Amino acid sequence: MDEIISALLCEDATPQDFAAVPLPDSYRGAVVRKEDTGMFEAMDFADKDPRKSLHLQDVPVPMPSAGEALVAVMASSVNYNTVWSSVFEPLPTFGFLQRYARLSPAAARHDLPYHVLGSDLAGVVLRTGPGVNRWKAGDRVVAHCLSVELESADGHGDTMLDPEQRIWGFETNFGGLAEIALVKSNQLMPKPEHLTWEEAAAPGLVNSTAYRQLVSRNGAGMKQGDNVLIWGASGGLGSYATQLALAGGANPICVVSSGQKADICRKMGAEAVIDRSAEGYRFWKDEQTQDPREWKRLGARIRELTGGEDVDIVFEHPGRETFGASVYVTRKGGTIVTCASTTGFRHEYDNRYLWMSLKRITGSHFANYREAWEANRLIAKGRIHPTLSKVYALEETGQAAYDVHRNLHQGKVGVLALAPEEGLGVRDPEMREKHIDAINRFREGEAKVS
Ligand code: NAP
Repeated sequence: MDEIISALLCEDATPQDFAAVPLPDSYRGAVVRKEDTGMFEAMDFADKDPRKSLHLQDVPVPMPSAGEALVAVMASSVNYNTVWSSVFEPLPTFGFLQRYARLSPAAARHDLPYHVLGSDLAGVVLRTGPGVNRWKAGDRVVAHCLSVELESADGHGDTMLDPEQRIWGFETNFGGLAEIALVKSNQLMPKPEHLTWEEAAAPGLVNSTAYRQLVSRNGAGMKQGDNVLIWGASGGLGSYATQLALAGGANPICVVSSGQKADICRKMGAEAVIDRSAEGYRFWKDEQTQDPREWKRLGARIRELTGGEDVDIVFEHPGRETFGASVYVTRKGGTIVTCASTTGFRHEYDNRYLWMSLKRITGSHFANYREAWEANRLIAKGRIHPTLSKVYALEETGQAAYDVHRNLHQGKVGVLALAPEEGLGVRDPEMREKHIDAINRFREGEAKVS
């Protein structure tokens, strides 16, 4: 690994240097273990602790097969799927790996007693497999997390519709929370060069998801002037949805749970912010019964903030807790677009408010190849910025996932892999300087740049 690190830290290293650097036999990755899948049985979701199940472990380096690339990971980030995997909810991810393994000999390599997690990375290509022409050793890249086969026509118009669609590092092995990762080469995109490694690794999964969910015609197809209610507006998805709404000329109504999170939304440029804790919304009277008066109270608050208008789009992901309210507050003809159910996937809402008011509920999941590329392009152009708040060492991945699980974080939480410190990897300092305030607005303390 030392020779890889020397090449990574040498500004003059050539593609030939990277191609010649010897690969180690093993690398360190943040893994969950098959033998641990029962460790949290009978515990409440909130009490399951990723620090107990996530381990840093030496694992063998997989060789890239056709269409694949092996990447030296400088930095990665924690997504909520790392939380799901690490607490074995709603299912242990080893079942995904077993199913994938039936597909082909290359896929069979993923079915192992350990699962290297992580669905984001920024790093440098080390090797490519047969049939990869666009990317070569030494390329500085980020990777999106869409793994598809494209052997069925179903996915040819929208790659998310491929029957073999998977999320890399969640439904496949060899993810990004590691020193080395294995990806399909079509996941690779150029690293935005005004960003450090850890900043570049932060947006991938959530920015692409928010882009499809909110902006793309496959999602809500947001347009200028739309009022968009954004739950968790300073969180992973929400911090990008808020920026996408503002950059697209829409009017985000940000919902958050503290004054500090409200301030972050204002720093992003949002004017309409609801602190759900301070305003004390209780959409459920008990486990079975919702309180429509609370939906109406939220609707009235939204009208206060919009000058009497209802929302065109609700950016949904909390699920059971908020879904009844989301359907209620959407304007006639509007769209509730959902990509998750963090608080419970059995949603209840009053269907009269849906059909009588001609509203639509749209399902959305990650992003297709093109949408992921467009989302990364917005980052590279400095139109959308990383929302990195805190950076951990690879050894501390369990703590990083714990923070996200307990909703203690803002925006995104980063993890350094082979980058020895924060602040490395910037090749366009002029552009960085132009956007420095926006890049830093989620940081706890000043971000260091070398
Ligand atoms: P995150 O960083 O934890 O942000 C979620 C936000 O939701 C929190 O910041 C919190 O904000 C808000 N929230 C939590 N509980 C809530 C409640 N009871 N009512 C209202 N708001 C609540 O997570 P994320 O990365 O945004 O991901 C959110 C969900 O989307 C997860 O379930 C994740 O697995 C899923 N996801 C799905 C996809 C996909 O492709 N389908 C992609 C990314 C994420 P406040 O406390 O400030 O309100």
